[in-house]
Order: sequence, then structure tokens, then C-alpha cells
Amino acid sequence: MGSTTDMPIYHDITVPVSPETPLWPGDGPVRVEMVADMAKGAPANVSRLCLSSHTGTHVDAPFHFIRNGKKLPEIPLDTLIGPCWVAEFPDLDAVDAVDLEATVPVGTERLLLKTRNSRLWDEKRSDFITDYVFVTPAAAEWIVRRGIRLVGIDYLSLDAYSEYVESAPSAHLTLLRNEVVILETVNLSGIAEGRYQLICLPLLAGNGDGAPARVVLVEE
Ligand SMILES: [Zn+2]
Repeated sequence: MGSTTDMPIYHDITVPVSPETPLWPGDGPVRVEMVADMAKGAPANVSRLCLSSHTGTHVDAPFHFIRNGKKLPEIPLDTLIGPCWVAEFPDLDAVDAVDLEATVPVGTERLLLKTRNSRLWDEKRSDFITDYVFVTPAAAEWIVRRGIRLVGIDYLSLDAYSEYVESAPSAHLTLLRNEVVILETVNLSGIAEGRYQLICLPLLAGNGDGAPARVVLVEE
């Protein structure tokens, strides 16, 4: 990009929202319609969007699974913006506490987990898969114990799909009860393990359980 060495490099890890975005079962469909179209003589182009608050790259607030939990507007910006560690686990089917303990630096406050899930975004898969890489309940407890404020993963949920069968998913409950913010559906395929600045800005729209976000990693 630039010629100066101190120029920051930005990585957009956002998965765009469109009718092709993979959706959680029951969460669809995404509708994007032109309500004013200059090609048809309108004075402006205006679209109308219809989507779940958990579509594409999005943030889960505690209120998503906790009745009196914090809503998105109550989440401090300094949770969503700041130093972040990207941990890479290319060979795991589930990320467990021992995996995190072995690699995540002490003092990490924001943690993004890069797994084989990220390849799905490069392949532009629009179907939902159930055998994605997830976080174990023990890993969620480890994240809380470590004082991590935000954790992200590269698929639609950080809980195993089987966690949703009869009850609320346990990693979500552990994290959200302890006010750890969850970031889901980021594309980390082009990102190397290491330290970045995270900029994660969910829309202030809807009921505050969650919202799509534009998410950027800044390399220094
Ligand atoms: Zn969500």
C-alpha cells in the first residue's frame, strides 16, 4: 500500500451480509430490496434490509442468552476496540482450555480464534455446515478466568452445534454471564497468528441482543 514503514495495514475480517450469507437454521432469509432505484427513474438509490440480528459478522451481547444481561449499547467501546491476539488452531476440531493455555499470551484481553472454519469464507460457501470448529465449555471457563473481555471465532457460533439441541449453549452461557462479549462469523483466512489492534463496531440497531458489525484488524 504505502511507502512509509509506519503506515498501518488494515485487514477487513468482515463477512458481508447478502442473500448468499450462510444462516443459522431458522434465522433467514436475508432480504435486500431496492425501494428507490435510479435506473428506474428514482432520484436516489435506497435499499431496504431484512435480516436477523445475528447475520454475517456480528456481536452477541449478554442479553442474547441472559434475561437481564447487558444490551449492545451498554457494552463499552474499550471492550470492542483495543489490542487483540489472533490464535491459530489449524488442526483442531474443538478448541479446549489446554490449547488456549499453551498459546495465548498472558494479559490478552481480546482473543480471536482462527480455525479451519475460515477456509469456508474463502470458498464462498453459502450453505450452513454443522461440523464447524467450536469452543469447549472448559475453554469458555478458561477465557473467563483469564479476564478476557471479548472472544471471537470464524464461524456462526462458538458453541458446538450439538449444544443447541435441548438447552442454551454452554460456552455462550459461561461467557455472557460473565459479560465476555462474543464476536462470531469473522473471516481470518488471510490473518497470521499474532498481535493486532481490533476495531469492532456493531450497529446500534434493534433490541440489543446482537448486531452485525464491521470488524477490522490493524497491523502495526
Ligand atoms: Zn450470535
